[in-house]
Amino acid sequence: MDIAANLKKVKEEIGAATLVAVSKTKPLEDIQAAYDAGQRIFGENKARELEEKAEKLPEDIQWHMIGHLQSNKVKYIAPFVSLIHSVDKMKLLKEINKRAKQNDRVIDVLLQIHIAKEESKFGMDEDEVRELLQNEAYKQLENIRVVGLMGMATFTENEARIKSEFNYLNELFQQIKNDYFSEQADFEVLSMGMSGDYPIALSCGSNMLRIGSAIFGEREYH
Ligand SMILES: *Cc1c(COP(=O)(O)O)cnc(C)c1O
Repeated sequence: MDIAANLKKVKEEIGAATLVAVSKTKPLEDIQAAYDAGQRIFGENKARELEEKAEKLPEDIQWHMIGHLQSNKVKYIAPFVSLIHSVDKMKLLKEINKRAKQNDRVIDVLLQIHIAKEESKFGMDEDEVRELLQNEAYKQLENIRVVGLMGMATFTENEARIKSEFNYLNELFQQIKNDYFSEQADFEVLSMGMSGDYPIALSCGSNMLRIGSAIFGEREYH
């Protein structure tokens, strides 16, 4: 597996969009190889795995939490995490705020939107996200900053389906930005697209891609 060559190819294809190299299940050497090839943003989907890897790898890596996050795991990553992509409820947001405050920092987050047909995928629907953003309790949170939306398309060969899901998320992103963040210029991240669908995501307005297997090879789960 030539990680540097894969990385170069992906970066050429995605142009100015931000690349999150998804290193879940992969060993430290693989992450170091991508780091040595210039990559600085890495994504993991488990809090403990993220914490352990961060301890052992260069300090200037920006770690993104991309997977479903339970409130009781927030404390492991709160001291250093750079962006949490997967906020799907008020309770989690409050916990992130509390832990950020304890660490005397502000944590950037994305709100995860459920756009896929599959029930298995996490995220809020449009009503839920609007309800959260209008909630008085949300407005009190001073140690989190909502900087955008994230979504995962249905796992399917049907490109038209994927395209319509990504287009929907892009439209929702524009509306939410307009309705709640018109005075917050840093609400600007639209995280969508993985190894199997990132060219479609880019054509639908994504500016942050979460790409794993196209860089590091297929994952093996034991
Ligand atoms: C694993 C994962 C990815 C990357 O998946 P690939 O298909 O390997 O690119 C992206 N986003 C999330 C939320 C993931 O869990």
